[in-house]
Amino acid sequence: MDKIIRINMGAEGGPQIKEDSPGEYAGIGGRALTSAIVAKEVPPECNPLGEDNKLVIAPGLLSGTTAAMSGRISMGCKSPLTGGIKEANAGGQPSQMLARLGYAAIILEGKPQDDSLYKVEINKDGVKIIADNSLKMLGNYDLIEKMKSEYGEKVSCISIGPAGEMKMSAASIACTDMEQRPTRHAGRGGVGAVMGTKGVKVIVIDDTDCKMRPPQDPEKFKEANKIFVAGLKSHPVTGEGLPAFGTNVLANIINEAGGYPTNNFQMGQFEGVSKISGETQAELEVARGGLATHGCHRGCVIRCSGIFNDKDGNFVTKQPEYETVWAHGANCGIDDLDVIARLDRLDDDYGIDTIEMGATVAVAMEAGLAKFGDGEAAINLIKEVGKGSHLGRIIGNGAAVTGQVFGVERVPVVKRQAIPAYDPRAIQGIGVTYATTPMGADHTAGYAVTANVLGVGGNIDPLKPEGQIELSRNLQIATAALTDATGLCLFIAFAILDQPETFQAVIDMLNAFYGRSLTADDITEMGKTILKGEREFNARAGLTAQHDRLPEFFHKEALPPHNVTFQVKDEDLDQVFNW
Ligand code: SF4
Repeated sequence: MDKIIRINMGAEGGPQIKEDSPGEYAGIGGRALTSAIVAKEVPPECNPLGEDNKLVIAPGLLSGTTAAMSGRISMGCKSPLTGGIKEANAGGQPSQMLARLGYAAIILEGKPQDDSLYKVEINKDGVKIIADNSLKMLGNYDLIEKMKSEYGEKVSCISIGPAGEMKMSAASIACTDMEQRPTRHAGRGGVGAVMGTKGVKVIVIDDTDCKMRPPQDPEKFKEANKIFVAGLKSHPVTGEGLPAFGTNVLANIINEAGGYPTNNFQMGQFEGVSKISGETQAELEVARGGLATHGCHRGCVIRCSGIFNDKDGNFVTKQPEYETVWAHGANCGIDDLDVIARLDRLDDDYGIDTIEMGATVAVAMEAGLAKFGDGEAAINLIKEVGKGSHLGRIIGNGAAVTGQVFGVERVPVVKRQAIPAYDPRAIQGIGVTYATTPMGADHTAGYAVTANVLGVGGNIDPLKPEGQIELSRNLQIATAALTDATGLCLFIAFAILDQPETFQAVIDMLNAFYGRSLTADDITEMGKTILKGEREFNARAGLTAQHDRLPEFFHKEALPPHNVTFQVKDEDLDQVFNW
């Protein structure tokens, strides 16, 4: 990966493409690269929808290699939702393909001088940008069908739906999966709105004739990858639970722990959980001729995904993730997997974040726009987003805006980004991550559910504040470096936290590939460097310690069934990055 493409969308006479060497950014990938470029090149005080923001798309350090699980791609910018730095990542095929084409990053800069919409073609002969207004306001599914008919069945695509074109703060960026469907989304923080401001609808990637990236030491790389894969297969979560039931295996577990937010975070248990659990979902998928075990990109060995068909056996969507099933399910009081699957399909088609949308619909329900449990009403609210009606534009800008417009007090957001599927009162460690990550509420930034509930990487009482700061700090550092920067899927965390030899295998793969001699301490330093740069950007953008807080209601309303509030003190939250 020795090239960076810069596309200046605002250049005189139309977009200009420049190919560069990585220069000062050499040797880093994924989130490390997107955040380094954003921190250096984007003015922190700029309007996120303006010409000074940049969208940086970067494969991970191990993407494009034979390393298992290495297909995550990072999208970075200043977030229109949080006002701070953003990295959202996704699976699917584009990361591996871009990396094999030799690109460390694509940077979209400037703002088009007219309202043309563009597609970018990338293949072994280089990069082209073409105006194509026939793509305007297409949903992601129709768009990808059109790209298939133009470019064939082997390309992958990075695209936005109507929500990105309408510059909504919940707009996502879609990546196509192995079946060339736009199902894998960099969902969070409105990255799709930034792509929309650049006037780029789709990036079509064709890696025909490109080979796997060659390691410096092929034998050592192969051996490390073998140990890594064996470790993933032998761990109960990555080898059994996730492949059998997908991420939604967590529904029963988190409900049992009393941390499954229900009816807009009013309760920690959902009476309809058995109807939407991972076990029920897997059974239904198989019975309808779908799949309960499937990878989102080539080289995934955990295969936590699946295919969800309707009752007639027709494809609806990929297996909705735990977060999606929760957001559109328990959090809205909906216990119907078919309704949830339709909502997931609409979200993917319009290009909107399922977590933000589920949280927003629940806030709208609390405001009285619909009743908790009313699936058809939820579908209609999301359809408003696709139409771009006034109501749809409010909802498409997320839970914070919707709560404000309709005067709702219980709005579960941090830095204006919706809180995901674990109530921080019942799982206090994840509350520390929600409050303090530079990304706004984001469970993936430091997944403290591991030691709080799952008994992975230790055991810490989820209802007590003790030990949570250190847990979240260590996880945030490790996540930034070991998964978000390498392109390895977050779900390897279960195995690497529990099994020292699997953890070491990841470091050995990096060393064998790049001819380096990194130690675990070096990885820690990498993670700290990423977080420090992101926090500095946020400080310059105007975010303060007051933004590293949970909403007031988590401190005031006790959550049933444990009847607990969030107990971690503000002054302790301020110590997370004091390493
Ligand atoms: S484990 Fe799941 S999310 Fe991760 S790469 Fe595999 S299918 Fe994609």
